Amino acid sequence: MAATTCGTDLKAFVRGHPQIPMPGVFGHEYSGVVEKAGEGSSFKPGDAVMGVHSAPCQACYWCTRGQENLCDSIMATKVLGSYAEFLLVPERIAKLNLFSKPDHLSFEQASLLEPLACVAQGVSMLPVQKDSSVLVIGPGAIGLMFVGALKIKGVENVVLAGRNETRLAAGASLGAETVKVDQIEKFEGRGFDYVVECTGQVSVWESSVDYARRGASVLLFGGPPGGTRASFDTHRLHYDEITLLSPFHFGTQAVRTAREWLIDPRLDLSALLSGDRKLEEGDQVFADLKAGLGIKYVFRP
Ligand SMILES: [Zn+2]
Ligand SMILES: [Zn+2]
Repeated sequence: MAATTCGTDLKAFVRGHPQIPMPGVFGHEYSGVVEKAGEGSSFKPGDAVMGVHSAPCQACYWCTRGQENLCDSIMATKVLGSYAEFLLVPERIAKLNLFSKPDHLSFEQASLLEPLACVAQGVSMLPVQKDSSVLVIGPGAIGLMFVGALKIKGVENVVLAGRNETRLAAGASLGAETVKVDQIEKFEGRGFDYVVECTGQVSVWESSVDYARRGASVLLFGGPPGGTRASFDTHRLHYDEITLLSPFHFGTQAVRTAREWLIDPRLDLSALLSGDRKLEEGDQVFADLKAGLGIKYVFRP
């Protein structure tokens, strides 16, 4: 019923992606209606569902150590192709990471379960409190979802930094204070308790640390291109005790957290959706996304 475009799809389209071989079937964010269900499935034809495109094996070295996101076979068994009319969801995913969609949630917002699960995995690494200060750098879909998630968790001081006016305005509508990226000031002169990098640019990975207070954690969320390296001030990291974190993907708990956020009426992610497009317009959609026009587009296969 709905399949949203994603920064990962754009990366795959523009520069290739190790997990999304091109040419190949496209799309990994989705919601829809069950056409047929396998034997023993808890779903039946006609059920409205939302899901993610992967599920861990829950038996390998990583899975049994609480790191399902790093599961040996999580990527080998993922499903792509949500831009098509039909998607065959493998048993492992249907059992663990597919959920019924409540009526009050639109199909297009339900399609955001996967990126929101990535965000939930990241947020789970930040022990935020009500009075925490968090700087989110990069007002793309992921940065905006961080703002929404932190607000749902009751964090008062969320500052979103970026360049794109439209995207910053979307962040403001989600409850963030916004600032131009070259005008970021240290929170209360001390720096932020948490800094969340959502651009995937090496230079921003490096500068993120500048805004962190002593004892802060910096979440390096955006994945830069392969082969790149970042450098950090060792004195800053050691004597100011800065923790660098860089989460990848998500485990089953993060998917459940994301599902709870999505069905919470307080979270309205409609500001992230830049309109419906036809699949035939795919080329133009990715050209627009590359040019920073729009945030996420919705294909309705
Ligand atoms: Zn995605
Ligand atoms: Zn595993």
